[in-house]
Amino acid sequence: MGGPKFRTRPEVDLVAELLRRDINMYRTRSFDDFMNEGINVNVYPAREAQRINDSLGHLLGFTHYNFEVWGDQEKAMQVRLTGAHQALVHCRARWVHVEAYLRYLPHRQRPDAAHAINRPRLQWEWWLANGKLFSFLTLPREIRDQIYIHTFGFTTEPYPTCKSRRLMGRFAGMQIQKPSVAFLRLNKQVSAEAVKVLYLYSTFVAAQTRVLARLLSKRYPQDSIRRLEIALSHQEFLRLFGFAHAGFAIYERQETAEALRQMKLDNLTLTFAAPSLTAVSQNLDGACQRVVVDWILEAAWPSVRGLFVTVAGYVKTAQKAKFETACGTVRAQISRWNRLRRALGLFEGTLPEYDQWLAEAEGDSEGGVSIVDLSKCANGYLSLTAKQEIPPVCRCRVLCTAEKWSADD
Ligand SMILES: [Zn+2]
Repeated sequence: MGGPKFRTRPEVDLVAELLRRDINMYRTRSFDDFMNEGINVNVYPAREAQRINDSLGHLLGFTHYNFEVWGDQEKAMQVRLTGAHQALVHCRARWVHVEAYLRYLPHRQRPDAAHAINRPRLQWEWWLANGKLFSFLTLPREIRDQIYIHTFGFTTEPYPTCKSRRLMGRFAGMQIQKPSVAFLRLNKQVSAEAVKVLYLYSTFVAAQTRVLARLLSKRYPQDSIRRLEIALSHQEFLRLFGFAHAGFAIYERQETAEALRQMKLDNLTLTFAAPSLTAVSQNLDGACQRVVVDWILEAAWPSVRGLFVTVAGYVKTAQKAKFETACGTVRAQISRWNRLRRALGLFEGTLPEYDQWLAEAEGDSEGGVSIVDLSKCANGYLSLTAKQEIPPVCRCRVLCTAEKWSADD
């Protein structure tokens, strides 16, 4: 083509641009009511439209636009441009902002995945449109706590590792088997809150003696853990709590077991492994599960009485009930003892303080003065160890093996 060439501006449909901007604004602002979320509106000049030009004859837009809503309804709307660079649409006999028109549209859900929009993107636009920046710390504390709980899960299995030095100080000496430890590094406030929630709500599971020892050796976890589950082999349990049987072995109670009484546990779960599978020692191979569990419970008694204990795993229903009831009895005694202390203007006592008081009270009772009725189970639990042969023979109706197991025997 010949002739002179002029530098010409490409024609820009300013009105359509304004309409699209306003539609977008509506779309993002309306996101919070989840109605018409991500509404899909196209605008383009209608067939009958006439140009609107500026004083120099440049295109500003058109008089009519088709609004195609959700890709199926189409409506031609008369449009006007105001001096303030606002595009108004003629709706219900009035000139209104496009948002007012969109609000009249019937609400509906996004029809199908074909119109799938980028939801996170939309949410982000919504935050921007509403002048908000998402900040984790602006969420209410209860919501943040819920997020921490779900991040850590309800159980935490710490294990000792040399990598643990990289974790923050409070977690020195342990690593948590979750990717979410990164959470703890976000910032000081978040990590402090998360740690608190972790200790309050998460059950720490110790499936090895050394893990348990590690967990209780550092002052912070020992003071902070509220829920603890100990799931050891029979042999490890006996070593932990101490066990003496002339024909078998003599183990002294480990410091770790004593540390249990220093803790402020809301719950302690003792989980017993299946019969036979657990016996590291020949002496326990093929032993009656009921007898061995009784030994362990008896051995555990001085370390755990007064705690809220749950017995779990391969344990007979009757054994579980008996032990948990005995623990409940001691807890009731301790609360009576604490009422007494409060009446004397003393603070709530700890378990070691109770133990000490009990020992003194026992001494006194020999002189005939007893303040509290001392139940036998406060002192010993079963006292049947000596009577058992080694290995303990199973006389249960259903034999104690991992394959055949009945808790109701
Ligand atoms: Zn048995």
